[in-house]
Amino acid sequence: MSSKYETVVGLEVHTELKTKSKIFCGCTTEFGGDQNTHVCPVCLGLPGAMPVLNKQVVEFAIKVGLALNCEILKFNKFDRKNYYYPDLPKNYQTSQYDLPICLNGHLDIEVNGETKRIGITRIHMEEDAGKLVHSGNTISDSNSSNVDYNRTGVPLLEIVSEPDIRSGAEARAYVEKLRSILQYLEVSDGRMEEGSLRGDCNVSVRLRGSKEFGTRTETKNVNSLTAIQKVVEYEALRQAKLIEAGGKVDQETRTWDDAQGITLGMRKKDEENDYRYFPEPDLVPIVITDEKIEEVRQSLPELQDAKIARFVSEYGLSREDATILTMARKTADYLDAAVKAGADPKTVANWMLGDLS
Ligand SMILES: [Zn+2]
Repeated sequence: MSSKYETVVGLEVHTELKTKSKIFCGCTTEFGGDQNTHVCPVCLGLPGAMPVLNKQVVEFAIKVGLALNCEILKFNKFDRKNYYYPDLPKNYQTSQYDLPICLNGHLDIEVNGETKRIGITRIHMEEDAGKLVHSGNTISDSNSSNVDYNRTGVPLLEIVSEPDIRSGAEARAYVEKLRSILQYLEVSDGRMEEGSLRGDCNVSVRLRGSKEFGTRTETKNVNSLTAIQKVVEYEALRQAKLIEAGGKVDQETRTWDDAQGITLGMRKKDEENDYRYFPEPDLVPIVITDEKIEEVRQSLPELQDAKIARFVSEYGLSREDATILTMARKTADYLDAAVKAGADPKTVANWMLGDLS
């Protein structure tokens, strides 16, 4: 079945930004804390409270955009995405719609020794929602649920890929590479288990050779690299089996059940949600100058790909070793510092890969 059908995947990755304060108010973004203590009239959406944009969020978004080879939109703006859910006190999410901060980038990933380019459609800035705290284990076996608004208004970047990914392994490699870049840039800690990096997986299958896309499902809030790979593999197989049996894939939102290793249907997407987007009237559009973009470009650190190339050419390391030693920026910086202090690169690298690790 796997040779008959081709898997098509697009990923929407949400990453929380490591700013000190929230995107539109001065509340702390610190993880944890007693429930509803990191809040104020702005992030609680009280009438009359006015948002002020955190300029660090814009700077971080430009950084990520440049690192992902995007065009930075010098005129971009916020819009209101209107919907009702108890974790969203304003009844709209302040997000970006038709004029996001970054467009048309790409990221090169390596799978089985081959390099593949994945297109980045767009990157936009938005605010996170709060968290429902159920009295039971899940929403369906609870008598009541409370809401914790501590995460409400924490800045997020949503990074949307083109449907260029063709397997679970590629999806995993893409998110892993993206996480490494965000960590190198020091804009996000990339901790998936705390939810500071999570992915929505859009998966469909089609007959190999076909140019048209099949009906896709969206599995939301997948929060580990292993789970991302499994979701893609599970969904592709489920959909192919369904089609083979004469059935048809429903366009729907699904959720990943990690314990059972399966996806479950949540709601049908017969009609697209109508979010009634409109320009956020409480915030002025964002104007970014060429000087600002240049200033951010100059501040970018050497990223993993460049480090691997340098470790191979300057230090004489193998590509494999250089790749492992550059996964985390701290490890790579440590090797550089040791060499600078007079150590032999290969000896230090071997020691780091062996005894030290
Ligand atoms: Zn606040």
